[in-house]
Amino acid sequence: MFDGERVIAATDVMLEDGLIIAVGAAAAGAADVEIDARGETLMPGLIDAHTHTFDGSSAEALRYGVTSELDMFCLPRPLARYRELADHRDDVADLRSAGTVATAPGGHPIPLLASLVGTVIDPSDVTEIEFVTDPAQAPHFVRARLEEGADYLKIIIDDGTVHGTDLPVMTPAVATALTEAAHDAGLRVIAHTVTAAEANIALDAGVDGLAHVWADLAPKAPASRRLAERIHAQGVFVVTTLAYFEAITAQRPGTARCSHTGHYTNAVGALRALHRAGVPLLAGSDATPFVPAHGAGLHRELWLLTQAGLSAEEVLASATSVPALHFDLADRGRIAPGMRADLLLIEGDPTRDISALSSRTAVWRRGVRQAR
Ligand SMILES: [Zn+2]
Repeated sequence: MFDGERVIAATDVMLEDGLIIAVGAAAAGAADVEIDARGETLMPGLIDAHTHTFDGSSAEALRYGVTSELDMFCLPRPLARYRELADHRDDVADLRSAGTVATAPGGHPIPLLASLVGTVIDPSDVTEIEFVTDPAQAPHFVRARLEEGADYLKIIIDDGTVHGTDLPVMTPAVATALTEAAHDAGLRVIAHTVTAAEANIALDAGVDGLAHVWADLAPKAPASRRLAERIHAQGVFVVTTLAYFEAITAQRPGTARCSHTGHYTNAVGALRALHRAGVPLLAGSDATPFVPAHGAGLHRELWLLTQAGLSAEEVLASATSVPALHFDLADRGRIAPGMRADLLLIEGDPTRDISALSSRTAVWRRGVRQAR
């Protein structure tokens, strides 16, 4: 068993009413249903710490063993539908969401969003987006996110350079005001940044996490090491999204264009600097209806993280216990009594070979075993 943090030799786990009720000797009693999992590995369901939910994506994620998705921007009307689905059904991944992102008028991702209306975004789902151009508007913006049920705040600091464009970007003063207003309201703040300068603005503002690594510094640049050390010193976490940088670098259809092919290599360099500095790393794919895809995109992310030098155990933790810790998901991400029975049974040992994750013999979501 991989319990979300470490490997535990052969053991018993007992489930009841959607929960893990006992582990080890306490779980050895008789049960209504017994599963002999010798030669297999039991582990917590996967958590993707950066996704964008669209129709069908929560079901697609669960088919790949992703039992929870942390959405980083969803319009309010579809979000209400997806929450309803996640609350009432057990054949879709569970969902947390930032709701509407804070960005400058016309800033990222507004042009991208506009381009999707009529295809993956139903025009009737489009509502007016509130922008913050003055620090004094920050408390109102945060209250509106609480009303739409946001679990955390996402702010966008991106001037478009990594996408080969030039976009309006929020001022550092607005970023700081939003972060303070969110913290006053008890929300964590995650910043979308893709360059080192943008990450530094987010760190100045006092955010809790970065939604991407940076992609503008050469892999061994001293500035990359200094930034990673600053992130560590501030206790900030970083969502990896190598699969996202891989997708934009390959200029696959349906993704934002990338201005040059060095961005993926740079992103791996940033990831390595963060790993060396001891920064908490949360696996996230930035899944969309295109690439990276929901579910499969997280598997790709985990494989890319092992290629970047993380151990398979570290990679599994980055998609289970680590995101649960940093997003206050106290009921999941580990196998322990009282936790939700979000579980994967894997043929082989993913703590030695991450590609074993593709050999899932069972997936449970809140104790409900999924159809093969
Ligand atoms: Zn995203």
